[in-house]
Formats: sequence, C-alpha cells, structure tokens
Amino acid sequence: MEEIETSEISEIAVMKKNGLYKLGKCYIYYWDDEIWITIGPDWPFNVCMYILLLAILIGFLTVMAPKVGPSLQYSGFFIITTGLLSYACTALKNPGLVLQDYQEALEQGKISKDTSFCKRCQVVKTSNSEHCDDCDLCVEGLDHHCPVSGKCIAKGNILYFYLFLVTVFAFFIYFVVWIFAVARFRVSNQNHNNN
Ligand SMILES: [Zn+2]
Ligand SMILES: [Zn+2]
Repeated sequence: MEEIETSEISEIAVMKKNGLYKLGKCYIYYWDDEIWITIGPDWPFNVCMYILLLAILIGFLTVMAPKVGPSLQYSGFFIITTGLLSYACTALKNPGLVLQDYQEALEQGKISKDTSFCKRCQVVKTSNSEHCDDCDLCVEGLDHHCPVSGKCIAKGNILYFYLFLVTVFAFFIYFVVWIFAVARFRVSNQNHNNN
C-alpha cells in the first residue's frame, strides 16, 4: 500500500458523528457507530416509487380486491406490501458504505496487501470494495448503482433488492390470475342469470 500523507485523511473521522448528515452524495443517519439509514443521491426516484407503490396498493384495495375471493385478496395484499417493504429496505438500508479511516486502520492493524486507499472519499478499502462515482463513496460488495432505488445495490441491501424483483414478477403473475378469476366469475354470473 502506498504512503499516505496524514494531513489528507482526518475527514472521515470527523464524519463519524451521531446525527443526520451528508456523506459523499448520500444522506446518512449515523448513531452508535452504525449507519441506520442511507438515502442515495437519486432520492427523487424514491419519492416517485413510494407514490407509485402506494397508488398500486390503494388501487388494489379499492378496485381489484372487492372483485375476487378472500384467498386472492390476501395473496395480492401480501405481494404488494412485501414489494413496498422490500423496496423501502433497499432504498433506506446501508448498502455497505466504507468508513474505515486510515489512521484508525493503521492503529488496528487492518492495513495489508489486500487493502487500498481511496483518495476520493479518504478511506481504506478492501479488495471487494469499489468506489461509486454516482454516490461518491466507497461501497463494500458493490453490485451496481441503481437509480430506481436511489443508490448503490451492494452487500447490505442486495437481498432486499432481489426480494423486490421477485415481488414485481409475482405481481405480474398475480395480475394474470386475477384477470382470469374475474372473467370466470362474470361467466358464471351470466350463466346463473340466464338460468
Ligand atoms: Zn471511494
Ligand atoms: Zn452508488
């Protein structure tokens, strides 16, 4: 690892304070040595997605659910709320921001041939961490930067992201099933009226 001027690296230690503040291009809520909430630079997408998902939930409860039986009502409600919650977790959870200060890493003996120093965010990162230009932060286990989620998809939120994708897919299947259920109900109602 290359020599680092110590004058460059005090910033991240100052950043590790309790409260809500901006780090790189993200907003974080830091408390008791832990990042509780991370909101990414593309947060307007988050607002749009929350509105869209809530609109789908309201649309389901008012239009779709009353037309089908209890089992389809519960399963549809379960899919949509799981989608909403998994999206919120993806958008709010810490994706794995690297906050390892150089001086601290040196004192704790965490510097090895597998670590490197990021000059942009002034942290010591491991080989599985990458710098995201959109967030302007180093992230551990980075998969990709997702504008729809507002930030990076990485080690800390990738399972919630996959769960959200599964619910989107499940909702499409549910929608097709719902259409068939409503059509069948109409046909049986017509037959009943004709008799
Ligand atoms: Zn970095
Ligand atoms: Zn990012």
